[in-house]
Amino acid sequence: MSDLTWRSTPFDDDKLREECGIFGVVGVAEAANFTALGLHALQHRGQEAGGIVVHDAEHGFNSVRRFGYVRDNFTSQDVMDMLPGTVGIGHVRYSTAGSKGATAIRDVQPFFGEFAMGGAAIAHNGNITNADALRRELIERGSIFQSSSDSECIIHLMARSLQRNIPERMKDALRRVEGAFSVIAMTRTKLIGVRDPLGVRPLVLGRVGEGWALSSETCALDIIGAEFVREIEPGEMVVITSESGVTSYRPFEQKRPRFCIFEHVYFSRPDSILGGRSVYSTREAIGRELAKEAPVEADLVCPVPDSGTPAAIGFSLESGIPYAMGIIRNQYMGRTFIEPTESIRNMGVRLKLNVNRALIRGKRVILVDDSVVRGTTSRKIKEMILDAGAKEVHFRIASPPTAWPCFYGVDTPQREKLLAASMSEEEMRRHLGVDSLRFISLDGLYRAVGEAKGRDPNAPQYCDACFSGEYPVEPADQLEKGFRLKAAE
Ligand code: SF4
Repeated sequence: MSDLTWRSTPFDDDKLREECGIFGVVGVAEAANFTALGLHALQHRGQEAGGIVVHDAEHGFNSVRRFGYVRDNFTSQDVMDMLPGTVGIGHVRYSTAGSKGATAIRDVQPFFGEFAMGGAAIAHNGNITNADALRRELIERGSIFQSSSDSECIIHLMARSLQRNIPERMKDALRRVEGAFSVIAMTRTKLIGVRDPLGVRPLVLGRVGEGWALSSETCALDIIGAEFVREIEPGEMVVITSESGVTSYRPFEQKRPRFCIFEHVYFSRPDSILGGRSVYSTREAIGRELAKEAPVEADLVCPVPDSGTPAAIGFSLESGIPYAMGIIRNQYMGRTFIEPTESIRNMGVRLKLNVNRALIRGKRVILVDDSVVRGTTSRKIKEMILDAGAKEVHFRIASPPTAWPCFYGVDTPQREKLLAASMSEEEMRRHLGVDSLRFISLDGLYRAVGEAKGRDPNAPQYCDACFSGEYPVEPADQLEKGFRLKAAE
């Protein structure tokens, strides 16, 4: 498939999007099949493209990288026959750094490098905030980049290291890297997992039979029947072989962890476990907090499907207002292979969501959504609900206002495009044209994820930069391009 024919729907651009999912196994008979299943479970973290690299003693390293869904690319016998091996890693992608929109195949991971001591492949979730500076330096010193991805810097930094084995070269390389990274790498015999010192992006370890698995989320362990062992700690590197099991290293200076709080709100699948808590339960708790903070008299609580569902259930349970499926999602819309014509584009959100008219007519409706980014979808949904005869529309949002872009592996519009960057809550309410609009407070969100006292302003436990504007890692490349931090405004 040419990259010109693979387009995301234009109706999905009002959400923050997680950029990548990563998965790897060692010590299993069919590493590629396990990896494909794992990536399939992580498809929500990236739908533009995916790739798998495997190794076996007879055939060496082999890889397949394709545009589109895992289920379309990694299920045919022909493809899977090209991927024999007992160790393998994979990556699903929605582009962050590197080409946007129409991804180039050269930017599809995993990336592979051949070193004096053997080959290695890496799959990266996150975003390197000093990638521009690193790339300039590496190119000046003779590195020849194959892609426009920030992640390729890691391979070149490894190539320049004087260490004698791949894990040591990875440590050298990642000590030069700033920003957010969860990395899964492989050599001929080893599976390697690393999380950045703040642990911004997730990475978990599982046991599958006699083998081991690493994954962005626990839901991908479930699909292959693996047992969840533990999370890889912030700043930890694990090196895993079939023979020796898991060896843990601490290659970085220790820092206070700052896990992405938005993983709890939206990115991770509700059936995953994060920080020992079910994502579903956390989202339900967010809905309960929201109902306590922003009660309103109404007849129905309806989720904006699908991501608003657990928070809407929590809101309903706390408020006693009945929960109902007032909006039905067309499960098969997904993505489109062709650029829609103008007339189809104008149908907008109606292609994906439809109002349950019989239920809505004459009712005061609370709509619970996970976030408001540009506000375009929220406005269309409000119009659909009013068209269906609702008496009142109240929006309740399961995250604080998103006023700052993410530079740590999540696709956000530029700051000017974020509704909350330039409008107060009341201005946003008027802009959306709803009867009321309330966001959960940052303190309320912290309470819902388990911090009983809310957010400690001097020592926040999570990355919450897209809400607070307080970036735990300075976005060096962005500052060079003119981005202004909150303190400079
Ligand atoms: S800025 Fe927001 S989305 Fe990005 S890592 Fe921090 S909390 Fe997550």
